[in-house]
Amino acid sequence: MTGSEPARRVGTSVMGQHTPRALFPAASLPDSRVSIGVLALQGDVREHCLALEAAGARAVAVRSAAQLAGADGARVDGLVLPGGESTTMGKLLASFGMLEPVRALVRDGMAVYGSCAGMIMLADRVQGAASGQPLIGGIDMTVRRNAFGRQVDSYEEDLVAPTLGANEERPLRAVFIRAPWVEEVGEGVEVLATTRSGRAGADRPGTGGRIVAVRQGPLLATSFHPEVGSDHRVHDVFVEMVRHRS
Ligand code: GLN
Repeated sequence: MTGSEPARRVGTSVMGQHTPRALFPAASLPDSRVSIGVLALQGDVREHCLALEAAGARAVAVRSAAQLAGADGARVDGLVLPGGESTTMGKLLASFGMLEPVRALVRDGMAVYGSCAGMIMLADRVQGAASGQPLIGGIDMTVRRNAFGRQVDSYEEDLVAPTLGANEERPLRAVFIRAPWVEEVGEGVEVLATTRSGRAGADRPGTGGRIVAVRQGPLLATSFHPEVGSDHRVHDVFVEMVRHRS
């Protein structure tokens, strides 16, 4: 049982409303789900949208600053920065005039979740960044790009992360694809998960005990891709963070 399940049930309390759905014709039923934007300039947008919907939110692909501002009626309560390629994502954000608006939302305290390239975008400091690579920042951490190696070094590992609902009996299968890790965090940053063995342990020394999931206030970041597959516990936690703030 996860925190978001009641919202998926029909006719039960959804964000404080106790009205049985049967009293409304379907078309006029108010959509009381939180609305979460997925930055849709580049990366695995569809997977995040599906995971957010499965976690009880309304997912909106966001492609413009106007959408972020709610100018065309698509106001979002939270934002996901997907995996992909952080240099490309940064350049596209800049050329679409979205970099400053997203930075402003982060400054204003919007709940934002970054996975992989998204984690890099949310870091205050990045090792191995391309020269002039635009970042959003917000989390007091140093992230090392491509820390686990190249595409061929992509791997999966079962993580224990109590805050993300993952224990030894039901660990979280984490998929790392050209993933970063977190080198160090500031005082206000909560470490949610670290790697255990690292890939194949012995032949890749130094990949164990690495920080791969963090939270600082309304900002959440993972090195891995929880949108791949059907385990949506990370998205459940993020949807709950968004509900809390909206
Ligand atoms: N290595 C990529 C980057 O630097 C991130 C990889 C990913 O998002 N899967 O942006």
